[in-house]
Amino acid sequence: MVVNKVGRRSRFNRTPTADIGRAKRQVAVAPKVALWPRVLEEPQWADSGLAALGTARRIADLQANRAKVPDWQITQRKIKYRRLGRMFEVKGFDPHNDYVMIKVERAVDGDNIRARRCFVCGDQPTTGVGEHVFPKWLQTRFGLFDERLTLINGTFIPYRSLTVPCCAECNTGFLSRIETEVQEIVERGSVETSADRLSVARWMAKILVGILVKETALLLDRKDPTLGNIVTADFISELVHCQLLLQSARKPARFGALHGTFPFTLYWYRIDGLENGFDLSTDIVGQSIAMRVGKLGLAFVNDGGLQMIHGEKGPYGLEGVTVLPHQFGELAARVHTKASLRDATHFYLNSETPTHLTIEQQDVRPFTSTTLAGGEMQVFQPWDSWKFSVRAAQVTRLEESVFMDTITGREMTTLTNLL
Ligand SMILES: [Zn+2]
Repeated sequence: MVVNKVGRRSRFNRTPTADIGRAKRQVAVAPKVALWPRVLEEPQWADSGLAALGTARRIADLQANRAKVPDWQITQRKIKYRRLGRMFEVKGFDPHNDYVMIKVERAVDGDNIRARRCFVCGDQPTTGVGEHVFPKWLQTRFGLFDERLTLINGTFIPYRSLTVPCCAECNTGFLSRIETEVQEIVERGSVETSADRLSVARWMAKILVGILVKETALLLDRKDPTLGNIVTADFISELVHCQLLLQSARKPARFGALHGTFPFTLYWYRIDGLENGFDLSTDIVGQSIAMRVGKLGLAFVNDGGLQMIHGEKGPYGLEGVTVLPHQFGELAARVHTKASLRDATHFYLNSETPTHLTIEQQDVRPFTSTTLAGGEMQVFQPWDSWKFSVRAAQVTRLEESVFMDTITGREMTTLTNLL
């Protein structure tokens, strides 16, 4: 069994006994489901702290495990993989190529990104255009060939030109399987099963990673190359968990998540709009992406499922409800804004054998150790109505005044008919 961890170091350094005691108290008083506030005069997202984050037992398990897990460096980890490959003595098993976690490490390696190697395995790419970040079926279905996407630096790129280096094996293998699954879901216009949910999340993760990898190859300012590229190659390592989620499609995977079935946030909506309507928005800081594809609206956050703490059906509990295109835009803006306010990450203990992958969340690690009034740790910074209204105006292309009364400073919504 191979074990590694994904997750940033935090300043979470309280003593284990205090933790367990606190967790027990919090679990005892925590509501089963944190409700999304429905009264608009109040902040849209009241902050719940660590209360809903798992049982005291899990935290106690973690405390016991943490001491046992060595803090491996990447090189040490690779040696370990090689040794394990021999240990398993699986016929035809190649530890270099058959461990998903090794492919993920190679994919997010800054040197491999700079060398324009395959964006999901880090191997030599096949010559040609590479992988379309927005697959051809999607471009055809929604007439995107001549449409353009706005990049972080404010410039535009046609959807058809959004390609990233990819090898034939990845392209025709697991990536192609995901496309087939998602195409069916998009045509149906609903996300029915947890298998659907997982396929969509992997697909959204691919697009998020793809756009950013593309941006590592584009100049921030074409008139001044000294400014470098839009996104630095080393930034891609921030997306290691996105990559792992995407690449978990390579072999049978098991997920252990604290806030739901899977370690990510995903909400979907039925759209009362055009059959071929399309819209896209992302938030790089929050690692969120929202897309309207005809009759289906999707919002994904690579946050380990942290937004699910505030209600598994998303803002105002509206998941699965039929909304107008601009209402979906507002919901997407709420998810993006919340994602950008995330103040915690997760600690993972992932493991892999030649035939199986296990992605296991252990606990939540706050970034800033801010204690809330109830004594809980803050996992989201306080809701910011102004930030939301600016974002909602961008996404919906409506006036900011639709989302914020500038005189009273009161937040407003286009979802009134649904609340
Ligand atoms: Zn590849």
